[in-house]
Amino acid sequence: MKNTTKNILIFDTTLRDGEQSPGASLTVNEKVMIAEQLAKLGVDIIEAGFPVASSGDFEAVKKIARTIEGPVICGLARAVDADIDCCWEAVKYAKRPRIHTFIATSDIHRDEKLRKSKEEVIASAVRAVKRAKGYCDDVEFSPEDAGRTSLEYMCDVVRAVIAAGATTINIPDTVGYTEPEEFAHRIRTLFEKVPEARDIVVSVHCHNDLGNAVANSLAAVKQGATQVECCINGIGERAGNASLEEIVMNLKTRRDFFEADTRINTRELFKTSRLVSNLTGLEIARNKAIVGRNAFAHEAGIHQHGVLQSKATYEIMNAEEVGWAGDTIVIGKHSGKHAVTALLEEEGYLLNEEQTNFVTEKVKELADKNKTVERDDVLAIAMDVIGQLPDQEKRIRLEGFTVVTGSGMTPTASVKLLIDGTERIGTGVGDGPIDALSKAVWSLIDPSVKLLEYNLKAITGGTDALADVSIKLQDAGGRIFSGRAVNEDVIKAGVQAIISGLNRAMNASGGK
Ligand SMILES: [Zn+2]
Repeated sequence: MKNTTKNILIFDTTLRDGEQSPGASLTVNEKVMIAEQLAKLGVDIIEAGFPVASSGDFEAVKKIARTIEGPVICGLARAVDADIDCCWEAVKYAKRPRIHTFIATSDIHRDEKLRKSKEEVIASAVRAVKRAKGYCDDVEFSPEDAGRTSLEYMCDVVRAVIAAGATTINIPDTVGYTEPEEFAHRIRTLFEKVPEARDIVVSVHCHNDLGNAVANSLAAVKQGATQVECCINGIGERAGNASLEEIVMNLKTRRDFFEADTRINTRELFKTSRLVSNLTGLEIARNKAIVGRNAFAHEAGIHQHGVLQSKATYEIMNAEEVGWAGDTIVIGKHSGKHAVTALLEEEGYLLNEEQTNFVTEKVKELADKNKTVERDDVLAIAMDVIGQLPDQEKRIRLEGFTVVTGSGMTPTASVKLLIDGTERIGTGVGDGPIDALSKAVWSLIDPSVKLLEYNLKAITGGTDALADVSIKLQDAGGRIFSGRAVNEDVIKAGVQAIISGLNRAMNASGGK
């Protein structure tokens, strides 16, 4: 190992760019849970959100700034005063706050979106950086769509914002358009034309539209970039961002090539990946590098033989290194609250006393039915509990239901609901038991609310597996609400998930 190994800062934007993934929306508590795990993983900077975007975003950034120790806590702000002021109000509680401000610099964005001249854009950027500097020392600036900005102009912008006090310059390939050699050339030219960039942090933020996000980021590191912006599981806008676990394991496994490393505790990678996937509902492809289910599986006989002789024949990393084999707590029939609490903590799930008791009870109940309870079952039950609404927000309650189905007949269902305290009975027929039941529910509620998605997943193998149902609804105003339920009965899980989504829609609309 050489002494020249330099440290690459890992800037995690799972909670900002990652949360912009279509279909992934997180509650404030879920974001705090992920931030806590990111701190355990050892990321250098957490981009916690875009405070001006919504009150929920603001609250999440503020709470993370207040509670998470270790990483720098960063908020995003457009290059306008109101955004920067709002961002500071949220991040100021952190021990080490950062304001990240940006403005688009490519011709297409300047002409079509901003309608500003090159000089006006530079003036706005400088003004924004100075305003942010008035609040804190740590200021990051991004020329949005840098990947499609003329190199000369990009250098002009960077020179101006460094002079204004920016301490990190981030070069984003916002639309995932560049190729690794081009992106490397861009970073190399930046250091040549703006030598003062060597005294600050040069960062990159690459999107994966052509599948080049990780390759582009690494090509930039090779040219001297010292911060990489990335997301757990590579989630993010459209095709996503560079995947954190892939960046980190490239740098670690090929330290000989990059002469660089990170401060990430790689043994926390798998756990973090699973937590983010469970909370966002964004599944990980089985063949995903590092964290996919098949990443360390050997199928071909000749490979298995080789691995049995010596792991190094077909494995360039070992599974333990990324935290695959860390399951030290086994859940069984006699596991009490202690074991359940330890497991939830180990996995990064923060539950209160009451929620933990509920999970423990449910685990015992399942074990008593002679079901084998696996780690994933416990996590699914915990997810179900985290998603529960407080009692006063449950305006619709399920009192009971029946479904009649079989071969050669039309499934029929009836459902008894308590809606705002009034008992109502609905009936329906459908293509299958769930369809019939949902028709029965819809015979009692506002028909303008539509079911957009219905996803069913079996948690672990076997016909007695827990069923995990997640649904999405849309109201007349186009707002989307999600619902989720876990149950050993697949039909019950389905109807409970629908009712949980309907409660969210009703609470949001206020009336009926
Ligand atoms: Zn992005």
